Amino acid sequence: MKLSLVVPCYNEAENVAAFQEAVISAFQGCGYDYEIVFIDDGSKDATLHNLKKLYAAQACPVKVVSFSRNFGKEAGIYAGIEHATGEYISLIDADLQQRPEIVREMVSILDEKPEIDIVAAYQDRRNEGKVLSFFKKGFYRIINRLSEVTLHPDASDFRTFRRSVGESILKMGEYHRFSKGIFSWVGYNTHYIPYTACQRLAGTTKWSFKKLMNYAIEGIIGFSTRPLRIATYLGGLTAIAAMIYLIVVVLQKLLVGIDVPGYATIIVLILLLGSMQLICIGIIGEYVGKTFEQSKNRQIYIAKEILDNNKSASE
Ligand code: UDP
Ligand code: MG
Repeated sequence: MKLSLVVPCYNEAENVAAFQEAVISAFQGCGYDYEIVFIDDGSKDATLHNLKKLYAAQACPVKVVSFSRNFGKEAGIYAGIEHATGEYISLIDADLQQRPEIVREMVSILDEKPEIDIVAAYQDRRNEGKVLSFFKKGFYRIINRLSEVTLHPDASDFRTFRRSVGESILKMGEYHRFSKGIFSWVGYNTHYIPYTACQRLAGTTKWSFKKLMNYAIEGIIGFSTRPLRIATYLGGLTAIAAMIYLIVVVLQKLLVGIDVPGYATIIVLILLLGSMQLICIGIIGEYVGKTFEQSKNRQIYIAKEILDNNKSASE
């Protein structure tokens, strides 16, 4: 049995060596082979330089895929799964927030229970601000209601799965990738285990509030067309309200003889309808944009350099 650890790295120069050491000590005497597939996601610091040192030393089997620019963690995961050769594949971050010992635990669960295909870790305690956690909860409630996928609110990308799951994921060639949705969409039996994220070893998180917001919209657009339905409903409701108001105005004029009042009413209605139309156009635009981008069929990532002992030996 062999395990592949897929590790996307973006500006993780200070972490990669420590990460490898942690892996080696965690897997000592585990009784199976393992390899680390590092993906340098267009880092601007010395990450690639340090990864090359790890590759040259081969303290444990190491592969390095280096992107031509920053393509994002999702593209890193895709490339990592493509280059992984193990029967089990594990997604783990380079910053040691996710301890490699937990991967060992995940592997033993997969070994013991053949009916389980994915072991996913969820954060039992989040060290986040109240505002962020409020928005995250809201997002999961919305996406679980709107889309065909069901997401575990605290699940992370930290997971270990069988090769067949990895192959299914690679077949999903969408350009805008939302891992959590993809994992739910492909199905398979998932077993959740709790974990507590440690502090980042060095460097800072790559997630800003804006990035998270975009990611959330990406997730909803990628896995549901219900927002389009909402636009239709909104239009229908406004039409009904307009009809009722029209009847009221006509009756007022004919029966009571009141002139149509209202500068204020008109302005409010114009603004209300205008903004509703813009929102609906925006929703449609999101989908048109995604369709446009997908229709270009661009590659998910471009590898500038691949360091892989096995590949160069066989080619
Ligand atoms: N990452 C990446 N490309 C990016 C952003 C992040 O490969 O564009 C990697 C990063 O190096 C780390 C993992 O994804 O190994 C998780 O990122 P981060 O620690 O910033 O996220 P957090 O743990 O704060 O959610
Ligand atoms: Mg992190």
